[in-house]
Amino acid sequence: MKGERRHALITGAGSGIGAAIARRLAEEGFAVTLAGRTAERLRSVADTLPTAGCVVMDVADESSIAAGHDEAVAGFGPVEVLVNNAGVAPTAPFEETDLAMLRRVMAVNLEGAFLLSQAVLPAMRAAGRGRIVNIASTAALKPYRYTSAYVTAKHALLGLTRALALETAKDGITVNAVCPGFTRTELVERAIDGIVAKTGRAREEVLRRFTADNPQGRLIEPEEVAALVAWLVGGQTDAVTGQALVVAGGEVMG
Ligand code: NAP
Repeated sequence: MKGERRHALITGAGSGIGAAIARRLAEEGFAVTLAGRTAERLRSVADTLPTAGCVVMDVADESSIAAGHDEAVAGFGPVEVLVNNAGVAPTAPFEETDLAMLRRVMAVNLEGAFLLSQAVLPAMRAAGRGRIVNIASTAALKPYRYTSAYVTAKHALLGLTRALALETAKDGITVNAVCPGFTRTELVERAIDGIVAKTGRAREEVLRRFTADNPQGRLIEPEEVAALVAWLVGGQTDAVTGQALVVAGGEVMG
């Protein structure tokens, strides 16, 4: 099994966008390692896939990342494709965003991607090929209200993407950010629930606010994000690096 298929490691793969990416890359013939904090969620996705393993990993914890990376490599060999997808997006007005929230959001959305990229790079450099895809957000390119920690972390993740793309440009490795708009996942459900609870507004009204940002007037589907990731890690994309690729129905242009 080890080394027979290209190996993709996806964080936050037990739900939402990460699960859709794991399914899509499995369809494309990858051996996939699903990483996240909750074993049952990972297992429920992995059990539906032909060649998949699960690794319990907290991307906010350096030792957990190191152990999880070792376990993934033991399962399917060196990681050729890393998808840094794990993320959290708590909402709060700026004055209620304390340092603990900022640090937590930075740890999960930024530092995890930083550390895992460092973990996979030596093998990618040795092989002369590799793909790193950071699931950022339109919030990496424009601000939204009441999400200052998230907007800060996603802008920083795009900075990391660009910096690493430059340093790996001659090594057969590409590093890109995929920037979805509001996507139909638990993360958006939780955000809507929170706004409904705080404001007492009707759910449909709050949902309309989310879809109104998208000129197509809808939520993005996780499979649409996964399709872009599949393209990026497929063939003939060597020249695409250091980019922010937006999947948002035209919410961000240019
Ligand atoms: P989701 O369903 O809540 O998925 C987030 C995943 O991250 C969960 O599976 C969660 O699993 C995992 N996770 C959270 N904290 C973690 C940690 N410390 N270590 C490891 N895994 C952790 O939300 P989603 O919408 O699919 O989000 C996926 C990514 O897309 C995020 O980076 C998010 O910022 C980005 N994004 C989402 C949207 C959107 O509208 N949904 C838009 C733009 C970008 P466990 O809790 O079991 O660990």
